[in-house]
Amino acid sequence: MSSPASILKETFGYDTFRPLQNEVIENVLARKDSLAVMPTGGGKSLCYQIPSLLFEGLTVVVSPLIALMKDQVEQLRAYGVPSLFLNSTLSPQEYQENMEYVRNGEVKLLYVAPETLLTSRILALLDSIQLDCITIDEAHCISEWGHDFRPEYRQIVEVRKRFPNAVCLALTATATSRVRQDIRATLKFSTTNEFVASFNRENLYIEVLPKGDTFGQTIDLLDRYKDQSGIIYCFSRKQVDELASYLATKKYSVRPYHAGLDDSDRRKNQEAFIRDEVQIMVATIAFGMGINKPNVRFVMHFDLPKSIESYYQEIGRAGRDGLPAHCRLLYSYADVSKLNYFIDQKAGEEKRIAKQHLDAIVRYAEDERNCRRKPLLNYFGETYQADNCSYCDNCTSAPTPLADITIYAQKFLSCVKRADEKFGAGHIADILLGSKNEKVLRWEHNTLSTYGIGSELTKKQWMHIARQLLTMGYLKQEGEYHTLSLTVKALESLKKRETIFGVMQEAKRIQKKSKKKFEVEYNNAVFAILRQKRKEMADEEGVPPYVIFSDRTLIEMAAYYPQSSKSLLDIAGVGQAKLEKYGDVFLETIKAYCEKRGLHEIPHPQPTLAASPAPKGKGNTLSARGRIIGEAFNDGASVQELMQQYGIKTNTILDYLYKYLLAGNELRNNGDLQSLLSASPDQQQASFSAFDELSPTYLKPVFDKLNSELNYDELKVLRMMYLISHQNDNHNEE
Ligand code: ADP
Ligand code: ZN
Repeated sequence: MSSPASILKETFGYDTFRPLQNEVIENVLARKDSLAVMPTGGGKSLCYQIPSLLFEGLTVVVSPLIALMKDQVEQLRAYGVPSLFLNSTLSPQEYQENMEYVRNGEVKLLYVAPETLLTSRILALLDSIQLDCITIDEAHCISEWGHDFRPEYRQIVEVRKRFPNAVCLALTATATSRVRQDIRATLKFSTTNEFVASFNRENLYIEVLPKGDTFGQTIDLLDRYKDQSGIIYCFSRKQVDELASYLATKKYSVRPYHAGLDDSDRRKNQEAFIRDEVQIMVATIAFGMGINKPNVRFVMHFDLPKSIESYYQEIGRAGRDGLPAHCRLLYSYADVSKLNYFIDQKAGEEKRIAKQHLDAIVRYAEDERNCRRKPLLNYFGETYQADNCSYCDNCTSAPTPLADITIYAQKFLSCVKRADEKFGAGHIADILLGSKNEKVLRWEHNTLSTYGIGSELTKKQWMHIARQLLTMGYLKQEGEYHTLSLTVKALESLKKRETIFGVMQEAKRIQKKSKKKFEVEYNNAVFAILRQKRKEMADEEGVPPYVIFSDRTLIEMAAYYPQSSKSLLDIAGVGQAKLEKYGDVFLETIKAYCEKRGLHEIPHPQPTLAASPAPKGKGNTLSARGRIIGEAFNDGASVQELMQQYGIKTNTILDYLYKYLLAGNELRNNGDLQSLLSASPDQQQASFSAFDELSPTYLKPVFDKLNSELNYDELKVLRMMYLISHQNDNHNEE
């Protein structure tokens, strides 16, 4: 029997749901009309894709973004999901063929534009088959209050009447309550079936810099993300052209994009960006709608955007894959005057609203004290609870007093010595960090006693320490390779164990947190080889590289060196179909690399925690909210209180607590868990035995085993008590 969780793993290769995905999926499967509001990158697609595989009949997806349909269908096919689209880009013959496939029930998912859905031809087609779900993507198009109203969307209401047995799922990333209310009213949804995910995108580092040497500020960002994809937004076409040609002269891989270019150039440039042939897009806001590229590592605003809403939408294009991404806004008051000039050409209500929007973004940009996330989320009606997100400029730029850096200095200096004083700072830092890069392995520096002893700092911080040691005269640097060696002062200081004072770069906090949350140590050389392989395969199939595998998948491969089909399946994003299609090629590539260097497979951390809770930090997908809720619960807050405080349902609280527990934390206060139970002691005992036998990862089998006597909320509570009792066992053994 398939369940949403097993499809998530087997078809899509992911271990855990993103927030609210599971709730939405369960609701749709229970045939309740639902509205899901999630930020870009929140994972809306799986909310209908997984149910579509569990429904017997067809799921229709209505989307206004014709340009995206091909991309979505390509991605689904790579996962082995039979899907198609019908729109004006198809030839009459292709159109006919696709209709035939649908009629024969060979398709699970059908993407159509709203105007297509409304044609009598398509309605007749749908009449002839079993239609189980109508998904309305970009559902804000229903609302006149949204930024993208489409009258055809209103007529979907009539289509629903024609198919009363099909459940309806509306999806949007537009969170304003006005629009939500409009969607609900138009589609006659009830508020209890509305799911609003947090709009906080934890993996986005957000910063605002005062405009200075703008080209330098741009290059600085590009150099931090060498060979990676990014978008730079400019206000005017002229600015786009100027910056793009400047970057081209500096040999960056860059293309312009704006409405002044002719259609074919625009399409060519966009295509090159999507296919990883060009890394940087310099663009006006004309660029971005209908871009699904998951591995955009940075979004820079060269000029001030006109509102928080558009700013948020634009930075939202970064880091859809959940890996860290950087958002930099350059701000100067001159931009405000420029925008004001344009606003002054408007009149009446329009002018008033535009001014309001501008004011809000200016307040945001000029705030140098508060967490950037607060005003951003506040704008969407969400309160950001934490005082400090540690992932924006304001939260990480506390004044840095002089600190005792003796330990770091000692580590660095002795590593220079151990490596025979023949290397530069970057290589020394790599040794300290325990890097597995090619150069470290070639020189067998992984055998030095200083190898891997510096993982408490980032590379950037080690470089910063090195610069200070140079300035303070502990190190000298020579030759074209900037080789470091120790001075007499250093030798003496090491002998005397002198205290050394210096500045610790504030990056420490950011990096430490980001490392815990998202980063895996991986082998860059292997990553580069796998990327190359991916590009070749993508070109052969004529699809964008991310259709084959995402960056995250390649990063995990480059971290764990899987060498069998079984271990490849443990890698995020590898499901059954992709394993069959692409597995061999990647396995061979990894094996070849590893054999040459005597490297072995590294076990992938398992998300299943039958009896052993995960070590802290490993496989940790705990969100900030999850952590806050777990901590509040440990401090004595009851589930009831937490529900009220966060305005979320019992089962959501239970999910957060479960994740908190899975992330390796202890849950105290379990008297309150107990009070949620109505199960008899016998039933509790039976559930524990069922968890023993079936594993606590999935609840459905346990639910069945207990003859549906206990509901899912009860099972969730019991599962936590089960895990807690095992956690205690483990502690006792220690
Ligand atoms: P949205 O439509 O909300 O912008 P998508 O559905 O395109 O987001 O998902 C964004 C990315 O996140 C995709 O690359 C998708 O494969 C990935 N993703 C979605 N759900 C999960 C999950 N549960 N675990 C890991 N990755 C996921
Ligand atoms: Zn912050």
